Amino acid sequence: MAQIPVISSPAHVGHAPAMEIIAGVPIPSIDMIERVDVIERALVRESGYRFERGREHGDEALLAVHSPAMVEFLRTAWERYGHLRPEGTDVIVADTFVHERLRAGLEPLEECREGPATIGEFTFDTIAALGPDTFAAARASVDVALTGVDELLAGERLALALCRPPGHHATRDLFGGGTYLNNVAIAAEELRRSGHERVAILDTDYHSGNGTQSIFYDRGDVFFASIHASPARAYPFHVGWEGERGAGAGRGATLNVHLPPDTGGAGYLELLAPVLSRIAAFEPDVLVVSLGFDTYVDDPFDGGLKIGDYAEIGRAIGELGLPTLAVLEGGYNLEGLGAGLAAWMEGARSMRATSVEERS
Ligand SMILES: [Zn+2]
Repeated sequence: MAQIPVISSPAHVGHAPAMEIIAGVPIPSIDMIERVDVIERALVRESGYRFERGREHGDEALLAVHSPAMVEFLRTAWERYGHLRPEGTDVIVADTFVHERLRAGLEPLEECREGPATIGEFTFDTIAALGPDTFAAARASVDVALTGVDELLAGERLALALCRPPGHHATRDLFGGGTYLNNVAIAAEELRRSGHERVAILDTDYHSGNGTQSIFYDRGDVFFASIHASPARAYPFHVGWEGERGAGAGRGATLNVHLPPDTGGAGYLELLAPVLSRIAAFEPDVLVVSLGFDTYVDDPFDGGLKIGDYAEIGRAIGELGLPTLAVLEGGYNLEGLGAGLAAWMEGARSMRATSVEERS
């Protein structure tokens, strides 16, 4: 069986926020550095994977997806404002946000890009703390995703990018939800730039991939599908409704499906089947999966799925027969993350082997 590339970066350990603020309460960050190690350990136990480091890439795809102002803010925030961190912490966190109605009727915001409050211009919540090496880790995470793109361009049918921090909540010019740079959106953009005419993204994290949706909302060349808990009961609360279907040239190229509470494996596969049909009908050249495991039954978010279910889900997605880049998003129960991802990969690659044989 072909060796499947698994890509990571040692720089991720630099992002180790001691706390973030949820519902007004400081809590330890759930994005623990052990998340990458537990996956690599689980895959080492299986055969058929080769491990590599993310390679450095230029900023072209990054700056096609994100505003230069936000990227520059993230790049320099700690150096400029780190000394203002709350006593006893290693992070700076926003507390005042630029809501569109706050400045309704006023001139565009241009003169105020100085001072620590600037953080509230580029983020939409308090769940994305900035530490001294957060940007370096996020930028390396982008390189991990882009190295996965290189693997597909070199002919691999399946590659796994172990991105940490994850990325799917970050919009063009806002970070949030523990994510800073949108790895999946940047990978999809790079695939487009490299000659793939139509790219599909499937987001199976427990939460809406609101950032990815927003980045491609008016694009007809990138199909975005997401299965997630309804924003009526889960973060990010204000985005990810089923009525959001895309706009302009992208009308119909966004698909949101809600995961009801207590959906088990069989129920999940029933939700997934029509989503996969819609992706197939789009006739993409390539698939990028925003792969989250916070759907695991013992995860703090509890989507009700068990380890064996991930093998079935991976198999169903593999049946599309598309070159596939899987990119890590959430998943905070270490057992569910390691064993769940190993099961997903085994499912996805088993169908891959079949479809390659059918072709030859
Ligand atoms: Zn999530």
